[in-house]
Amino acid sequence: MNIASKVSETGFKPASRIASVGVSRILQIGARAAAMKREGLPVIILGAGEPDFDTPANVKEAAKAAIDRGDTKYTALDGTPELKKAIADKFRRENGVDYALDEITVATGAKQILFNAFMATIDPGDEVIIPTPYWTSYSDIIEICGGVPVLIPCNAEAGFRLEADQLEKAITPKTRWVLFNSPSNPSGAGYGEADYRPLLEVLLRHPHVWLMVDDMYEHIVYDGFRFVTPVALEPKLKERALTINGVSKAYAMTGWRIGYASGPRALIKAMAVIQSQATSCPCSVSQAASVEALNGPQDFLKERQESFRRRRDMVVSALNAIPGIDCRTPEGAFYTFAGCAGLLGKTTPAGKYIGTDSDFTDHLLEEAHVAVVPGSAFGLSPYFRISYATGVPELEEALRRISAVCVALG
Ligand code: PMP
Repeated sequence: MNIASKVSETGFKPASRIASVGVSRILQIGARAAAMKREGLPVIILGAGEPDFDTPANVKEAAKAAIDRGDTKYTALDGTPELKKAIADKFRRENGVDYALDEITVATGAKQILFNAFMATIDPGDEVIIPTPYWTSYSDIIEICGGVPVLIPCNAEAGFRLEADQLEKAITPKTRWVLFNSPSNPSGAGYGEADYRPLLEVLLRHPHVWLMVDDMYEHIVYDGFRFVTPVALEPKLKERALTINGVSKAYAMTGWRIGYASGPRALIKAMAVIQSQATSCPCSVSQAASVEALNGPQDFLKERQESFRRRRDMVVSALNAIPGIDCRTPEGAFYTFAGCAGLLGKTTPAGKYIGTDSDFTDHLLEEAHVAVVPGSAFGLSPYFRISYATGVPELEEALRRISAVCVALG
């Protein structure tokens, strides 16, 4: 379903730039699950992409203090100097990369960073290479901006990672960006140094291609996986790379809406032009809170990571115990992206044929009352994504129900 076909019945005519953009499948599933819950059904939702932890107390206190001292006005267009300084320090301390304050931008979530960046750089027909499965907003934003998402399938056997020859083949004179997201939403796959190196070599040979990296899940990694950001590996790419991050996932601050990025001055300036006409600046109170998040104590990150790891292990082993499901162990984030090829071609006890991953996830929702998202929503089938940022008892119950439904397929 796309917006254009839905709303035209009412006589409303949307702009052509949103005609091809679909209503997010994740939101549709969430809405259906919420409606079932309201009807009194015991629905467990494993679809949400946000940590179940609370924002740290010191961060909340910093926000209250900001309100009390009157930090309630418009701020500098793309971030307060205090927050930009905290971000520059973070990049230096955690990633070993140096950026001046005018090479840093702050926006209303990493989502707006992506929007600003594509709006500021994409002309009609420009291509953006995206390893798939991918977070669906990438392609939707690119399409709104008139660009063409070039989706390159990277299946479980490839560790859900793009390989150098795939990148080389995908590059055309129209390629504007290649976008990496490590650890990934939805697959949880991470690119370590050895995975990135050959890809960066390819980029060095194609100077017209810019590199965008989404490091949102940097702090949620497991088993000694060494997170690394490409600019730290290949400083020559710094002049054409945008490194995106944010406080949403690491500090459980999804509702505060602060994302940030570092990149070449000219790009950062162009992004500010878009932001100036969209929001004027990010929320003043949230910026003050984010200064504390980045500068304050960081030890709780490790504790939360450990809690996510226990849940990941539980989910991966429960899924792999179900005949027909095959789940790779992710390096990071809080998602599993399990294969369900072994269930396709089966029939439900009520006689419904399971031909695709969305048939399977629809059946899970209707029969097991468990909401998960089909791989097709992320551009790669047949898989389904579970978000395990949920309490352990709920997760255990959901996995019991998923198992029972799968075993009953004939
Ligand atoms: N990048 C990825 C990979 C994400 O999963 C998300 C949130 N789902 C975002 C960016 C956006 O985060 P925010 O806008 O909350 O900063």
